[in-house]
Amino acid sequence: MADQHVVIVGAGPAGLLLAGYLLKRPGYRVSVFEQRSDPRLTQQVQNRTFPISLQERGRQALRGIPGLEKAVADRSTVCNGTIMHQASKKNRVIPRKTPSLMIDRLQLVVVLLKFLSDQYSSDQFVVQFDCRCTGLNPSAQTLLFQQAGEVVSHAYDVIVGADGAGSKVREVLTEQVNFPCEQTLIPDAYKSVFLNQPEDGIQLAADKVHTWNLPNNVRMMLVPQGNSQLNGVLVFKRDQSPIAQYTTKEEVLAFVQENFPRFGALMTLDEAAALLSRPVAKITTVRCQRFHEGSNILLIGDAVHAVSASIGQGCNSALQDVGVLNQLLDQHQDNWSQTLPEFSAQRIPEVHALRELSDYSFPRNRWLVFEFILRLQVSRLLNRWFPKQFPPFLFDLVFDSDLPYSEVLDIHQGWINKVKQAS
Ligand SMILES: Cc1cc2nc3c(=O)[nH]c(=O)nc-3n(C[C@H](O)[C@H](O)[C@H](O)COP(=O)(O)OP(=O)(O)OC[C@H]3O[C@@H](n4cnc5c(N)ncnc54)[C@H](O)[C@@H]3O)c2cc1C
Repeated sequence: MADQHVVIVGAGPAGLLLAGYLLKRPGYRVSVFEQRSDPRLTQQVQNRTFPISLQERGRQALRGIPGLEKAVADRSTVCNGTIMHQASKKNRVIPRKTPSLMIDRLQLVVVLLKFLSDQYSSDQFVVQFDCRCTGLNPSAQTLLFQQAGEVVSHAYDVIVGADGAGSKVREVLTEQVNFPCEQTLIPDAYKSVFLNQPEDGIQLAADKVHTWNLPNNVRMMLVPQGNSQLNGVLVFKRDQSPIAQYTTKEEVLAFVQENFPRFGALMTLDEAAALLSRPVAKITTVRCQRFHEGSNILLIGDAVHAVSASIGQGCNSALQDVGVLNQLLDQHQDNWSQTLPEFSAQRIPEVHALRELSDYSFPRNRWLVFEFILRLQVSRLLNRWFPKQFPPFLFDLVFDSDLPYSEVLDIHQGWINKVKQAS
């Protein structure tokens, strides 16, 4: 089917990758509308950005567009494991067989935007920033946006809601048609953290993710960005920010230096002040029973299956959505009314399995954490010696393979049930 105008709401990783895939196909014009400002032109407020770890599932989807995986890799840090720092004991290193690309979410978006803008003219591809979707009229095939204080309407042939966990497109569908969907606020919340490593100061390994856990479900995770910067998050239970009681930057700095000494040594008073004033970001998960409506409305990525960040698969699966959609468009010669139901049918079992894995792979109960670490070591050994009898460890299947999430869940259902019962 030729000359289709696809409107994508949300210039996040999923929306922009989809634009790239559609523009490669003949006969598409793509308009993307984004509520935030253009990150290439403005200094973004770094309140809600964080490092994203991309593994095989997400990278395969990037690879479908020649040159894109390399463009992303050029701006990423390659990490081959995690160092769990501990105050009194030796650090624990958990190596990864397959390295991940670690890239800040904002950077990923900037790379995608540059890549698309360099390749396509404005006749084919338009992105409008500062333009917030406020409504949808499926019978007239129009979308409403708030732009520069005015309400504007845009016509579409196909609309794709890639507008994240708080999706407006999804909200309108749940109000207007039978579109069963559940949203849950998860127990974890976070504040972004940005540190610099002076060349002559202590250096954290540039090829590792660095984590530090405190006993009360507070943890800091940092990822090197090049040689001098570390971006990350301070994660804690919602409404229990460990720095909520402090009012000055000096107090925040003292807290970080005392509890995360190796990280605290890299924190400046300015960053302590910024950390104090950054808002707490809450995380919503989304579970829907259908990902499409009729023959021309689709939801992808966090808009339809946001998961907790505990095993870092939200973006990988959002990018995977796009790869799968592209294959189905190939199979159905761009017939969207045949493609969309099949997309829902294929993706729902996968992302529902991912939801289980994200909620219950990593235990919160202290004793199960010990068992988890023991299982990690023992099952890696057993798998090396008797690969036919003992499958790879759960995280190794999530991070080092592209096995469907539903198969990973089948293999490790026993552990998931155990963690679920203890939750
Ligand atoms: C702390 C943290 C760490 C994470 N780590 C990882 C990780 O390591 N690996 C991983 O795979 N995933 C990770 N994730 C998850 C990942 O960030 C998301 O799954 C991913 O960003 C989803 O991409 P998306 O394009 O679907 O949605 P988003 O990234 O949320 O993008 C949606 C876009 O839509 C725009 N938008 C929203 N509403 C409107 C509107 N009404 N009108 C116009 N535009 C709108 C938003 O401004 C945004 O730009 C992490 C998440 C968090 C919070």
